[in-house]
Amino acid sequence: MTVVLGLERYGMINQNLLPTKFQIVRRIEAEKGDSLLDAHRETKREFLRIWRKKDMSVLEEGIPDYSFLDLKIDLLKEMLRGCVFCERKCRVNRFERSGFCRCGVESYYSSEFLHFGEEPELVPSHTIFFNRCTFACVFCQNYDIVYSDDRPINPREMGMIVDIRRRQGSRNVNFVGGNPDQHAHTVLEILRHVESNIPVVWNSNMYHSLELAEIIEDVVDVWLGDFKYGNDECAERYSKVRNYFDVVTRNFLRAREHGEILIRHLVMPEHVECCTENIVKWVSDNLGRDTRFNLMFQYWPAYRAKEYPEISRRLSSREMRRAAEIASLHIDNLL
Ligand code: SF4
Repeated sequence: MTVVLGLERYGMINQNLLPTKFQIVRRIEAEKGDSLLDAHRETKREFLRIWRKKDMSVLEEGIPDYSFLDLKIDLLKEMLRGCVFCERKCRVNRFERSGFCRCGVESYYSSEFLHFGEEPELVPSHTIFFNRCTFACVFCQNYDIVYSDDRPINPREMGMIVDIRRRQGSRNVNFVGGNPDQHAHTVLEILRHVESNIPVVWNSNMYHSLELAEIIEDVVDVWLGDFKYGNDECAERYSKVRNYFDVVTRNFLRAREHGEILIRHLVMPEHVECCTENIVKWVSDNLGRDTRFNLMFQYWPAYRAKEYPEISRRLSSREMRRAAEIASLHIDNLL
């Protein structure tokens, strides 16, 4: 496998030269203590020590009765009682009702399969398409997946499927949707049943809370993050989300400290200057010109986009050329 700049660790896991994070997390013994949060903070130090050692021998260890992964799942379940998984921070008890994302405790998905249409370094990618989202994008390109509850996920069965897909050649397990954040507790339950040394890809809108980041960053190998908007006004208009730019840039900076990143940006009509340009400049200045960056031109006016005249069409060839020109001025590692 060709190793891609910025995704070296991911490449080494796929060559079985490094352990994937969640397989380390599964093998670290944890104690609940009086406070789950304190226990988590304490055990995280041990995780980071082992992860930084870059040593495959950890996979020879047995699985303890109560692991760091179990502790994380318990912590997420506790957090579900006043949900702050994403920056909307609805603080609803999801055991009783749902918040903005319309998710309770049970997670639903539309499909799982080996996806050959992702970035070259990811394919074949075992994509699991969760329902629902923490955003409400008026042009949602996956609205059929987002606004349905297709099938409940059985974590044990899905964990076994992840292993089967690995044997069929998957290079990663790719949690997507919709969005995976609001299903983080289910994702970690799935990983509890996975035996393969397979990289975890978190394919999200990057609007997760710091509280969630603290827990999931120890199982995510690659952050496949959508960077949609270059300012808060566009984010509020089209995705009904506040404080977008600060949250997403904060999360990209943190993700880089705790894993590898691959950024996707879907160019939108009439948004090359206000969004595409601001985004590539920020990425270049703050994450580096060598950040792996996928500039995407496949926007189509899906869902309710027709209600917004300026985005009710596909990109013009002039806009595509201009976006490509701007991106190549600032980013060297473009897809
Ligand atoms: S995941 Fe986000 S949108 Fe959903 S209930 Fe929790 S805080 Fe609200």
